[in-house]
Amino acid sequence: MANWTVPTEGTADVIVVGAGPAGSTAAVYLARSGLDVMVLEKSTFPREKVCGDGLTPRGVKQLHQLGIDTSGDDWIRNRGLRVVGGGRTIELPWPTLADFPDFGLVRPRRDFDDMLAGMAVKAGARLRTATTVTGPVLDEKSGRITGVRAKTESGEQTFSAPLVIAADGVSARVALGMGIDKRDDRPLGVAVRRYYTSPRTNDDHLESHLELWDRSDPDDPKLLPGYGWIFGLGDGTVNVGLGMLNSSKAFGKTNYRTLLRTWLDGTPQEWGLREENAIGGIGGAALPMGFNRTPHYDRGLLLIGDAGGVVNPFNGEGIAYAMESAAIAADAVLQATGRSGAAREAALHGYSSAMKAHLGTYYRLGTIFSTLIGNPKVMRAATTLGLPRKRLMYLVLKLLAGLYDGSDGDWADRVVRGLNRAVPSV
Ligand SMILES: Cc1cc2nc3c(=O)[nH]c(=O)nc-3n(C[C@H](O)[C@H](O)[C@H](O)COP(=O)(O)OP(=O)(O)OC[C@H]3O[C@@H](n4cnc5c(N)ncnc54)[C@H](O)[C@@H]3O)c2cc1C
Repeated sequence: MANWTVPTEGTADVIVVGAGPAGSTAAVYLARSGLDVMVLEKSTFPREKVCGDGLTPRGVKQLHQLGIDTSGDDWIRNRGLRVVGGGRTIELPWPTLADFPDFGLVRPRRDFDDMLAGMAVKAGARLRTATTVTGPVLDEKSGRITGVRAKTESGEQTFSAPLVIAADGVSARVALGMGIDKRDDRPLGVAVRRYYTSPRTNDDHLESHLELWDRSDPDDPKLLPGYGWIFGLGDGTVNVGLGMLNSSKAFGKTNYRTLLRTWLDGTPQEWGLREENAIGGIGGAALPMGFNRTPHYDRGLLLIGDAGGVVNPFNGEGIAYAMESAAIAADAVLQATGRSGAAREAALHGYSSAMKAHLGTYYRLGTIFSTLIGNPKVMRAATTLGLPRKRLMYLVLKLLAGLYDGSDGDWADRVVRGLNRAVPSV
């Protein structure tokens, strides 16, 4: 497809704000199709991003969809999830499916995001780093976005485009500037992580620990709705962290950094998860879940990734869904190109509808799930009763990790699809 505008310095067909997994993925798809794409990113690469660095097969599928070769040494493969809780440890292999690969990956976000941003540039996108977008530029009459304002190394600058994709993460600066606020009827998580040197660095499973106890009141310890993780990075280090949902009474009152230290102090000494082996500090951020910022399309602006609150409320996974939303948004933009007026708007609104069709009922289930496990009794019952039952856990894995086939498949795929049909979309 040919370029239909000649790029000039401050204008583009599409501006993408943020070069995380969502923004870079959208930029790759759009630039590959010949659009003039400008990506504005506040940091410079490589940079740290607070994350668990883990990809389930759902994330791996998105990498393969982009044409990324994941066979090299940069990628640490895992073949399943190890779940620890209720005095038990069980290993659940990733399921064999038509729709998803049967392995997950780990790669530090410092490398991962750098690689993806580089891919966007290779595809033809113009990446401007050290460029912090401060807000949208709106057409006075229509209220449509016509560009963004940004702080750059050479001062304030305005960038113009008829379409803007907000991929600026949980801060959602551009959406806020358009008056698109966070929805309080959707779950929100908080997660913290830290790197440690550890003999657990080579692990062919992602490991999750279901029992997070808040012992701030020693007389009344509380089981929290969330989980801790240990992901081996294969280079002598591990990424260790925990995430928790806002559905419990303890949310907002918990000191997550202290909680992480307390949990790790209780792990075996030989794992090495102690202060003297820590690398860097504890980083934390919010996890915007279950479409907590909508509409996903409004007046020339498309929200993707964390900016659109697309983190999975079942498990806190965000990279796969950031990339999926990017692919769906890119498709809507490409469909809109070459159309005008109402037909063009219909294609763009198609992004919101496509997101609902793709994840709406699943995220409704996830929202119900997050409310249920906010009750410590439900959480405890789920851990103690669920874990010993392998068949049940096979189903739970498919549901919580979103790893089920869209058609055919086995009994568990049919159960998850049935559950999806039983609820309305968010
Ligand atoms: C502790 C923790 C652990 C997690 N672990 C996992 C995990 O193991 N696996 C998983 O799948 N998900 C995990 N997540 C979620 C995952 O990190 C996010 O869902 C994912 O990063 C979302 O991608 P994104 O591109 O939407 O946003 P981000 O990755 O946040 O990217 C946004 C980009 O926009 C840039 N930006 C922000 N504001 C501006 C601005 N004003 N102007 C210009 N640029 C801007 C940022 O610098 C950044 O590069 C975790 C989250 C946390 C907090």
